[in-house]
Amino acid sequence: MPNSIIRVMKNPIRVRFAPSPTGPLHMGGVRTALYNYLLSVKMKGQFILRVEDTDQSRYVEGAEEYILESLNWCGLKFDEGPHLKGDFGPYRQSERKHIYDTYVKKLIESENAYYAFDSEKELEEMRFNLKKAGVQSPQYNHITRQNMKNSLTLPLEEVNKKLRNKEPYVIRIKMPRNYTIKFKDRIRGWVSFNTNHLDDKVLYKSDGMPTYHLANVVDDYLMKISHVIRGEEWLPSAPLHVYLYQSFGWEKSMPEFAHLPLILNPGGDGKLSKRDGDRLGFPVFPTLWKDPKKNLEIEGYKEKGFFPEAFVNMLAFLGWNPGNNKEIFSLHELSEEFSLERVGKSGARFDYQKTKWFNQQHLRLRTAKEILKNIILTEEMKREEDYLLKVIDLVKERCVFFDDIIKESNYLFKAPDNYEELAVEKKWNKETVTHLQSLSSKFSLCIDFSKNNIEQIFKDYLEKYTVGFGKVMPGLRISITGKMQGPSMFSVMELLGLNEVRCRIEKAITRLGNG
Ligand code: GLU
Repeated sequence: MPNSIIRVMKNPIRVRFAPSPTGPLHMGGVRTALYNYLLSVKMKGQFILRVEDTDQSRYVEGAEEYILESLNWCGLKFDEGPHLKGDFGPYRQSERKHIYDTYVKKLIESENAYYAFDSEKELEEMRFNLKKAGVQSPQYNHITRQNMKNSLTLPLEEVNKKLRNKEPYVIRIKMPRNYTIKFKDRIRGWVSFNTNHLDDKVLYKSDGMPTYHLANVVDDYLMKISHVIRGEEWLPSAPLHVYLYQSFGWEKSMPEFAHLPLILNPGGDGKLSKRDGDRLGFPVFPTLWKDPKKNLEIEGYKEKGFFPEAFVNMLAFLGWNPGNNKEIFSLHELSEEFSLERVGKSGARFDYQKTKWFNQQHLRLRTAKEILKNIILTEEMKREEDYLLKVIDLVKERCVFFDDIIKESNYLFKAPDNYEELAVEKKWNKETVTHLQSLSSKFSLCIDFSKNNIEQIFKDYLEKYTVGFGKVMPGLRISITGKMQGPSMFSVMELLGLNEVRCRIEKAITRLGNG
């Protein structure tokens, strides 16, 4: 083989999003999925959906479909998952029980795990006695296990008998005493835990199902996951996971860990919750969630009018930054720029105003034609396309959502019937009326009523009569638009045309009088 053909092939990266279908996907979950997705696209790897549904008691009907649909809305496409083909399936943990059975047995054989037969009452008693003795948070651990009913304390005979008789049991990890578990987190650097502070977590439950910890580690290994990117709330579980890799003898295939910073509420004093959203009036779910239990519908970002690309752009910035001033990114651009190195350690505060700002910026990127296709025209707005496109171009800068175009542009279709009270009170007076009357007659002499010519007439007028801009413009704006704020008045007037402008000035003077 010629030398040039020999290349060192690096293993492709494989990342997974591993939600439990216990309800709708919170935006924190979407961010986790997003970061996994971005890394997979950037590194030309695989993005896998694994449904972690071993806790049957928390299973919620429709949650899995919701997760898929809402991530699809965000533009995050999986390469493997329960809904797709793949070489590492099944991708739903409830369909992989036989696999976990095999692996948990290996742990028992290597004496890294043991059977525990304690009843709920006995466990409670243990906790109660320890509390009485001053232990703040009693645990089943390397000390207490010595006084409990398990395969480490009971004679082998008795253990076998209990197993034969199908007495209920759980399988627990046997955490060694005073051992340091260390691993390098891509975001936090070296993290180390002493096993004296860790308990003997249950790996297998009495209902014959594995717990999250066992299933998660076995699957990450079997699915050849290269990076585990997940929320910070899983950091305390990581030492157990690392220890499981060690117990199985899989250290060499251990994935890299990256624990993402928390998303904080707008006050910055806690994890962002659904309650914060209810209290402050913003959604926390990406799309509409139909709660089957409460028979309730909860709107998401989609229903509020957000663009998926704006939502995703905002989420990317909750914990990551590109290291320069650029803030507006398409999903594709994000995947080119993203790196774990630029994910911060500290919590990222959610800001709803900023989220709207992202939407506004993404709206500005759309052409008037695209926007026109997405708005439902009112009766008044049924005008020729050319006019509509000009209206959209004029007002879109001021809009956050598609719907705002309609609200922002009403005066471009119909003369105002009402005038903002406060504006009139502040800016409308006898002087205004005189200026408007003179200006209107100056306009009437204009042959080409273009924004440049209008501006010139206006400026000449101010100069000639030595009046300030602020003495004339607000009155002109009120008379034509009914309000104090809006896009360039010269452009508005050009669009409306000379006749309409003069009629509106006259109408306002009649309606408002001398103020
Ligand atoms: N099933 C866990 C969850 O619901 C997955 C955590 C992980 O990514 O390891 O978030």
